[in-house]
Amino acid sequence: MKQKALKIWNPGMECMDREQMRDLQSARLRETVRRVYDNVPMYRARMDEKGVKPEDIRTVDDLRYLPFTDKPDLREYFPFGLLAVPKDRIVRIQGSSGTTGMPIVAGYTAKDVETWTEMVARGVTAAGGGPEDVVQVCYGYGLFTGGLGLHQGATKVGAMVVPMSSGNTKRQIAMMKSLGVTMFGCTPSYAMHIGETIRDMGMDLKDFRLKSAVLGAEPWSENIRTRIEELLDIDALDIYGLTEIAGPGVATECLFKNGMHVNEDNVIVEIVNPETLEPLPYGEKGELVFSTITKEGMPLLRYRTHDLSRLNPEKCECGRTNVRMERIMGRTDDMLIIRGVNVFPSQIETVLTNIEGCEPHFMLTVERTGTTDSMEIQVEVNDRIFGDTVGHLEQFRRRIREEMKSALGLSAEIKLVEAKSLPRFEGKARRVVDNRKL
Ligand code: AMP
Ligand code: ZN
Repeated sequence: MKQKALKIWNPGMECMDREQMRDLQSARLRETVRRVYDNVPMYRARMDEKGVKPEDIRTVDDLRYLPFTDKPDLREYFPFGLLAVPKDRIVRIQGSSGTTGMPIVAGYTAKDVETWTEMVARGVTAAGGGPEDVVQVCYGYGLFTGGLGLHQGATKVGAMVVPMSSGNTKRQIAMMKSLGVTMFGCTPSYAMHIGETIRDMGMDLKDFRLKSAVLGAEPWSENIRTRIEELLDIDALDIYGLTEIAGPGVATECLFKNGMHVNEDNVIVEIVNPETLEPLPYGEKGELVFSTITKEGMPLLRYRTHDLSRLNPEKCECGRTNVRMERIMGRTDDMLIIRGVNVFPSQIETVLTNIEGCEPHFMLTVERTGTTDSMEIQVEVNDRIFGDTVGHLEQFRRRIREEMKSALGLSAEIKLVEAKSLPRFEGKARRVVDNRKL
């Protein structure tokens, strides 16, 4: 730990006695369940189907009787079908890539934006941030929750915010230096890139005032943490969230770096066995499932994240009592996060099946060169295309690249291969080779 500042933004909510927190959660859960039952047809139908009435849900223990929610539901009811308030109360839409070309979106009321802001403010404070800090936001701004999320939270704690968005690393570094930036936020791989660029430019860290970074939106590891901390001489802290629940700030790490504190006054977290969906006790590894208990716009019950983690209810050395989740250890599905963007192999398949001449067989290889992720997609094309002139072949390749880019939101190298040259699988197809070492 490079700093001693151990401030807590909202001690009332972050250091509450666990029994009291349970009571608060139970009360908020009862209220939420009633509200979604009355206002969201999908939940009413699912609860009716299970024979569960709102009054059956009295405490957190009764969560197990509630239906799960998953990404396909958001797609099915896209864009406003899961709102629990009239549309004119929504003041913000945020979104994320889903399994198809269309993003999934979440609607926030003014109060939801405030709650989210509060959660990030807690995280920024836990990372040592306050009014005296200069916080550079190098997460992308836009539908993606990273940029605006950190922006709002850092503003709330009174820091001076530098809304850089992502990219243009040299300019990021120049701003960090000249503005005396003390904290920043981005994906861990981008933080590493910033660190390596500073080193490669031969700059002296003494000319910077950096002390910590809040990094998230993609999986990373302790090894990467160590590298980032060494490169930049900072505390590198984990921040977790997802668009559907609130964006970053659902859980944030403190300077003791021993798991992320979940904002339990706003969400109830469960770990379930991803196969049986049975809840698992504290300490066991499984899939994270969140229920929102203060959200107005789009409250979600038992939302399956497909992220794997473990929960620890012990009081933390920092004084916070909120349950901690371990860094994300993997996924239960095949979603990849490449340069901060969620990519599902099924998206690639959809693009290819829509292009005459492509076979639905591909192989995706993800590499990390230095700190930058790149992907190559080998695509089988039929004999007519493959036997065409070099010029036509190149044109065809470019077309696939363009369509892939517009569907995934990311560039990929496309390599055309002959029909039947890629491996075929008898069991589960393995069309992804991820060579990144995290
Ligand atoms: P999005 O809604 O696009 O922000 O994507 C949310 C997903 O990003 C989560 O379900 C996780 O898989 C991943 N994610 C977000 N924060 C982290 C983190 N700190 N560590 C690992 N994965 C993360
Ligand atoms: Zn702590």
